[in-house]
Amino acid sequence: MAPIRLHDTRSGELRELVAPSDGRVGIYACGPTVYGRIHVGNARPFVVYSLLKRFLEHEGHDVTLVINITDVNDKIYDAAGRLDVPSADLAAEMAAYYKADTDALGLGRPDAEPLASETIETIVALIAELIARGHAYAVDGDVYFRVRSDADYGSLSRRAIDEMNQGEESDPPTHSNRKEDPLDFALWKAHKDGEDTVWFAPWGRGRPGWHIECSAMAEELLGVGFEIHGGGNDLVFPHHENEAAQTRMARGTELAQIWMHNGMLQFGEEKMAKSVGNVALLHAVVDEFGRNALIMLFAGAHYRQPMAFDDMRMMEALARVARVRDAARGLVDGESPATMRPLRDAFFAALADDFNTAAALGALFEWINERHKRRDEPVGRGDLVEMLSMLGLQNLAEHGSEAGAEEQELLEEREAARAARNYAEADRLRDELRARGWEVRDGPDGPELVRIEQ
Ligand SMILES: [Zn+2]
Repeated sequence: MAPIRLHDTRSGELRELVAPSDGRVGIYACGPTVYGRIHVGNARPFVVYSLLKRFLEHEGHDVTLVINITDVNDKIYDAAGRLDVPSADLAAEMAAYYKADTDALGLGRPDAEPLASETIETIVALIAELIARGHAYAVDGDVYFRVRSDADYGSLSRRAIDEMNQGEESDPPTHSNRKEDPLDFALWKAHKDGEDTVWFAPWGRGRPGWHIECSAMAEELLGVGFEIHGGGNDLVFPHHENEAAQTRMARGTELAQIWMHNGMLQFGEEKMAKSVGNVALLHAVVDEFGRNALIMLFAGAHYRQPMAFDDMRMMEALARVARVRDAARGLVDGESPATMRPLRDAFFAALADDFNTAAALGALFEWINERHKRRDEPVGRGDLVEMLSMLGLQNLAEHGSEAGAEEQELLEEREAARAARNYAEADRLRDELRARGWEVRDGPDGPELVRIEQ
């Protein structure tokens, strides 16, 4: 296996992925809080970590990808209250939408998608361990993590301890008065009026805090010290800092080896968040432009960089999809020419170097340029299919993308109609082809059918 290096937020450096001898790699990525349909920004981590899994599998690893679903949260209570529906019903409905919306990306599902509401027993046991070790304390039914008891607190986000704010100001003032230190954060929240879900714990009825959910779910499914913990870079502090601290203090060891963070999507100048009005919902974007173009857009940027999102960029991505499909037409089955092999190798080398899909895509398009220089010789599709499979875009090179016999017949009828100057009939046949998803285009060997991207 070639060495694979990834940027680790904790060390601020590229670190080599070290997998056990059996090649098993665990990836845990923080998933959505389900209180509404997800926007296209939520799809970025889903795509990044799903593609990373594909790449690691290509390199011979046996990967387990876990992406959780937060289905107990203040935002869910608030949204359910506004809609006057039970919060558990809203969360279940939105979790189902989240699965349907991400299914439409055609990248498969993560290996596990744990729900906070189904992990309560494990969460309670982890909190009890923190209390027993003196790193957490119960007050009036709340439980708080004692931040200053962790000498390494702040090591992930690399901030000085006195510059931190847990952002729990939405709690009533009496709440923060219960803390020994304003820096402490909630592991368990005592039941409050207006909250319609409740669980029982030795220190009282209530519900878990957000950070402890992920520590518990990650450990339950991947153990501690697993290879990669991921998520959006808006989660570095406090969420991931707190996850790391909880596990370190409860288990005496680090939760994950590499902490990997993707950049945010930007709509104009603003971060894509549901609090911003200009939200593009994932299902609407996929309906309008298709999953191929959206994956092409995500792959075109380095995962760590912020990424601009607008219609113009989606149109550009659509054009790139068409370029790939165009190049794939006319390829023959079998291996690609050995002289083009270095471009295929450059594609995978770019992925091994901090998962640089943007550079990898550059190599793929160079491969396509080389393919066009060989118009007069048979070129095998092998390398192109291998590269596209890594991106979940192998469909662009499949035989299925060629028009069927019926479409070819319609094309011939249209040519006959044109030759007979029956333009109305020719237009009718063109429209029928369009309705079937094919555009007539004039190629060097006469008219040909090209798949309409959607
Ligand atoms: Zn999380």
